[in-house]
Amino acid sequence: MTAKLIKGTEIREQILEEITAEVAEIKAKYGKVPGLVTILVGENPASISYVTLKIQTAHRVGFKEVQDSQPVTISEADLLALIDKYNKDDSINGILVQLPLPKHIDEKKVLNAIDPDKDVDGFHPVNVGRLMIGGDEVKFPPCTPAGIQEMIIRAGVETKGAEVVVVGRSNIVGKPIANMMIQKGKGANSTVTIVHTGTKDLAGHCKRADILIVAAGVPDLVKPEWIKPGACVIDVGVNRVGEKVNEAGKKVAILKGDVDFNAAKEIAGWITPVPGGVGPMTITMLMLNTLKSLKFKLGKK
Ligand code: NAD
Repeated sequence: MTAKLIKGTEIREQILEEITAEVAEIKAKYGKVPGLVTILVGENPASISYVTLKIQTAHRVGFKEVQDSQPVTISEADLLALIDKYNKDDSINGILVQLPLPKHIDEKKVLNAIDPDKDVDGFHPVNVGRLMIGGDEVKFPPCTPAGIQEMIIRAGVETKGAEVVVVGRSNIVGKPIANMMIQKGKGANSTVTIVHTGTKDLAGHCKRADILIVAAGVPDLVKPEWIKPGACVIDVGVNRVGEKVNEAGKKVAILKGDVDFNAAKEIAGWITPVPGGVGPMTITMLMLNTLKSLKFKLGKK
C-alpha cells in the first residue's frame, strides 16, 4: 500500500474533542451552550437510528439537545407551527428535520421554513446562496462537503492550484463541494471540474485529478487506471453490496465505496476508506455548525 489512509473515525475524535473544549469555555464565560433540536416525524427505523446518533453526539459534546418526536399523522400546518416555535426559541441554535417526511407533507416547504440562521444542515436556499458567494458570507456549509474539505486540510494535501475533479452533481455533495473548492481560502483555491452522467470522457477527466472526490453511489465506478499516481482520493460513496454476520452474531450490511479501494490504494497518495472515511464526518460537522450558530449569536467568529 502506498497511499496514506485518511481516517474519518480519527479526525472525528479530534474535532469532537475540540468542540467539547470550546463548549465548556463558552459555558464558563457566557452561561450558554449550543441548543440543537431534532424533529423526527413517524417511526422509520433508519431515521430513528440517524437521529439517535445525532442526539448521542450532541450530548457527548455538551450541547442542550431537544428531541421532538411527532406522530406520522402530524399535519403540514402543525409541523410548520412547530418549526416556527423553535425559530423563535432563543435557547435553540440549530433545527434539524429528519428526512424523509410522510407523503402528505411538502418537504421543501418545511425545510424552507427553518430560519436560515438556525439551518445547521446548510440546505436552505439562503445558505446555498451564501456558500456560492463564499468568504465571510458563509454560515453553515453543508455537513458532508464540509467534512470532505476538513479531511483534505487535516491530511495536509495542497489544494491551491490543484486540479480537483468531482464525480457527481447532487445538491448535497457534488455541487457544494465543487463550489467550496473554487473559493479563495484555506483548503480551496483549486481548479474544479464536475463530471456526471452526461460527461463524455469520465476516465480522461479523473486521470487529470490531483484531488478526486467521488460521490456517485455506484460501487467500484472509479477504476485504478483512472487515478493519477500520488493523487488524493476522497470516496464519498456508501453502497450496500450484501450482508454479513458480525462478531456479535448480528446481520450487518457489507458497505463498498465508489472507488475500487484495494487497487486504488496502491496508486493514490492519500485515500479514504469505506466505511470509516467520509461517513463519520457528517454528524461531526453538524455539531460544528451548531456551535458556530451560537458563536454567531454571541458575536464571536
Ligand atoms: P445522488 O444519487 O443524488 O447523486 C449522484 C450523482 O452521481 C448524480 O449527480 C449523477 O449524475 C452522478 N453519477 C451517477 N452515476 C454516475 C456514473 N456512472 N458516471 C458519472 N456520474 C454518475 O447521490 P448523493 O446523494 O450525492 O450520494 C452519492 C453517494 O455518496 C451515495 O453512495 C451516498 O450514499 C453517499 N453519501 C455519503 C454520505 C456520507 O458518508 N456522510 C453523505 C451523502 C452521500
